Amino acid sequence: MDPWGKIMKEVIDKDTLMKGSESSEFETKDILDKEIDINEGKLPQKELGKVSMIETNTIEEERRLGLERLASGFRMFAHFGFDEGVAGHITYRDPEYPHYFWVNPFGMHFDTICVSDLLLVDRDGKVVQGDRPVNTAAFAIHSRLHEARQDVKAAAHSHSMYGKSFSSLGRLLDPITQDSCAFFNDHVLFDDFTGVVLETDEGDRIAEALGDKRAAILKNHGLLTTGETVDAALWGFLSMDRCCQSQLVAEAVGQVERISDETAEMTKGQVGSEIAFWLSYQPIYDLMLQKDDSFLN
Ligand SMILES: [Zn+2]
Repeated sequence: MDPWGKIMKEVIDKDTLMKGSESSEFETKDILDKEIDINEGKLPQKELGKVSMIETNTIEEERRLGLERLASGFRMFAHFGFDEGVAGHITYRDPEYPHYFWVNPFGMHFDTICVSDLLLVDRDGKVVQGDRPVNTAAFAIHSRLHEARQDVKAAAHSHSMYGKSFSSLGRLLDPITQDSCAFFNDHVLFDDFTGVVLETDEGDRIAEALGDKRAAILKNHGLLTTGETVDAALWGFLSMDRCCQSQLVAEAVGQVERISDETAEMTKGQVGSEIAFWLSYQPIYDLMLQKDDSFLN
């Protein structure tokens, strides 16, 4: 077994990695009936280098953990240069009220976003908690996506340099590296750019194009990734943008040798699983904590 597969097997065999991560174990409600206290449920931060999932025992702990990861994601996007003016949004489905999602406010730089800045938005785009406006495109895309895909707990989109550059080619990523195999047969091309996404019917069409896949290349626009955890959606975005970069660089130089479909599929099983995506984000979370943990405020 290759070293990565061995590590993954050991982690999975511990049977603690995903424990407590399924919000389905908590009771959910359709309509928000109270103000949510986002400071409830704070747990100690993970130890540096530790890769087992933090166990949550209450819905407040589950939410707080998700919000901390979401806020870390904006700092991560800023760290890797995925910000572009007011463009970009990352969402997290509330574990107690699954028809509501948390999102960044319109106009705030990713590098300044804290947990307390995050907005809670309902399925009609109304901000039900928070005092800033929401990006119309964030609502139009993510609300429909979260409604269409109940398994999607988080989704990320921005106009990152390599993602948007590659999107202009109107193609899928090819399995040309071990890393790009993670997206083999697990992403789609949304080939219908009609300007800024302002209407939910375009969100519906993006969700329909995505189907049951992990990610989408929005042609002439950028990338969209999803996850059963915030961490997985975030790692997916970073990895996908880098896969776009590597394919652009390689094809600019010469003939690229594609990995066979069979090997690509096998490799996807090693590096493209939900757990593998979650795991890959943990060192980045550590980096965000070490760099500036003010996102926890
Ligand atoms: Zn966009």
